[in-house]
Amino acid sequence: MTQQPLLLLDVDGPLNPYAASRFRRPDGYRTHDLMPTWWAERQTRRSDGEVKPLRVWLNPAHGAELLALPYELVWATTWMDEANTHIGPNLGLPELPYIRWTELFGEDPDGLHWKTRDVVAWAAGRPFVWVDDELGPQDADWIEANHPGQGLVLHVNPRIGLLAEDFATLREWAAAA
Ligand SMILES: [Mg+2]
Repeated sequence: MTQQPLLLLDVDGPLNPYAASRFRRPDGYRTHDLMPTWWAERQTRRSDGEVKPLRVWLNPAHGAELLALPYELVWATTWMDEANTHIGPNLGLPELPYIRWTELFGEDPDGLHWKTRDVVAWAAGRPFVWVDDELGPQDADWIEANHPGQGLVLHVNPRIGLLAEDFATLREWAAAA
């Protein structure tokens, strides 16, 4: 059997449409108040010493839809291994491999997204689709020039999250790859 392409998954934006109006949770989503380490470390403590949890919206149907795709799923998110404890179980996803970042939110000398170089290094030439809400044309160009396999950046609007048309694009890309 040939190896499936990788599907590199960002959480905040594609799976958690965090930029939607906070008063109008998108249809099909459920609310989760979570406390990942990367969040807790960046918050100022309240007077009672507590940190406000991070409100996350997740659509439980996305787990089965992702698993049905002809891809190997990989977390490519600020959540790193905590996606396996906080996000995956709420979507019905099994434990997945994840990319460990060199530096969270690091500044890139060439203006690339802070994840881009790590993503290409991690993929090590394997074909991938990278689903994220923050990548620009400079990232797509850099991937094209530096990733020896096929690569696609699939932009997702963080006000909306993954759509049926994104799943259709993923199926079509895998079929053509
Ligand atoms: Mg994101």
